[in-house]
Amino acid sequence: MSRTTDADADVVIVGTGAAGMTVAGEALRHGCSVILVEAGGHAGPGRIARHLRNDTPSDDQIDDYAATMVKGLVYHGFVDVQQGDVAAFSTVHAVGGRMTLWFNNCPEPAADERSAAIEASAWPTLLDRARQLLNVRPNLAPGSVREARLIERMRAQLPDLAADRGVQPMPTAATSTHSGVRFAGADDLLLGDSDGLPDMATLLSGTVARRIVSRGGHVEGLEVHAVGGGDDRNPSTALRLRHRESGGRRLHDGSPDVRNEGRTRPGAGGRRCTR
Ligand SMILES: Cc1cc2nc3c(=O)[nH]c(=O)nc-3n(C[C@H](O)[C@H](O)[C@H](O)COP(=O)(O)OP(=O)(O)OC[C@H]3O[C@@H](n4cnc5c(N)ncnc54)[C@H](O)[C@@H]3O)c2cc1C
Repeated sequence: MSRTTDADADVVIVGTGAAGMTVAGEALRHGCSVILVEAGGHAGPGRIARHLRNDTPSDDQIDDYAATMVKGLVYHGFVDVQQGDVAAFSTVHAVGGRMTLWFNNCPEPAADERSAAIEASAWPTLLDRARQLLNVRPNLAPGSVREARLIERMRAQLPDLAADRGVQPMPTAATSTHSGVRFAGADDLLLGDSDGLPDMATLLSGTVARRIVSRGGHVEGLEVHAVGGGDDRNPSTALRLRHRESGGRRLHDGSPDVRNEGRTRPGAGGRRCTR
C-alpha cells in the first residue's frame, strides 16, 4: 500500500557516496537541513559509514585485507593479472558508497574523471577541502612493520606482476586514535569534526529513489521505496518537498536545485521522471 510522507528539507540527496556525503556536509555546515536517501544499508556498527580497513585492526587479518586491496587494483586496471571474479567492486550499495572500500590514498581524480558539472578551476580547491576533511597525510607510518607486511602480502598475491612494477606505500587518509588508527571514510566528508548525525540531517537507508517528481519546472518531491519493495506505480513512500516561504536557509533562491548527471546506478532502480 502506498503512503505519503511530508519531508521538510532544504536539500534532498540521493546516494551517500563521496559525492553525496560531500554535498550533504557542505549544505549542513551552511545551515541547511538535509535528507539523505541511500539504497544500501549500513556497512557495520560504529559511525554512519565505516571503512573496510577499520575492520582489520589486527595483524592476523592482514592477508584478507591484502587480498581485498589486490582485487581492487585488478578491477581498476592498475594491474593486468587475472584474479577471479572482481565484479562485486562495481556494485557497492552501502551507506558511504564505494568509499567503504577505499584504498586510502589521496583523492586525486584524473582529468577525465573530473565531472564537467564542476568548473575545472574549482577542482583544486575542492580537492584541498577533501584532503582536509579526510585527514590525508603523506604516509601513515613510513617504514612501519604493518605497512611493510601489507606491501609484502599484496606483492605475493600478484605473482604475474611485471618485474618493473611494484606495490608502493600511498598517501593515507587516517587519524591516530588512542587505540591505533581510524581510517577516513565517507562520513568524515559529511560530519567533519562532529561526532554524530546533526538534527538537521535525516538518513533514509535501505531506500531507493525512484523518481524526481517535478511539475512546470518546479521540483515537488521524490518517490522512493524500501529496497525489494514497491514498483513504479506504487512507491512505498513519497517524500514531498515543502517550499519554505519563511524560516530556514536556502542554498538558492527559488525552487530546490536538482542535478542529475545520469550516473544513477541502474541496479538501484533510479531514474529521473518529469510529469
Ligand atoms: C576498491 C576501491 C578503492 C578505491 N580507492 C580509492 C582511493 O583510495 N582514493 C580515491 O580517491 N578513490 C578511490 N576509489 C574510487 C572512489 O571510491 C569513487 O570514485 C567514489 O567513492 C565515488 O563516489 P560517488 O559518490 O560518485 O559514488 P558511489 O560511492 O558509488 O556512491 C553512490 C551511492 O548512491 C547510491 N545510489 C545510487 N542510486 C541510488 C538510488 N536511486 N536511490 C538510492 N541510492 C542510490 C548507491 O547505493 C551508492 O551508495 C576506490 C574505489 C574502489 C571500488
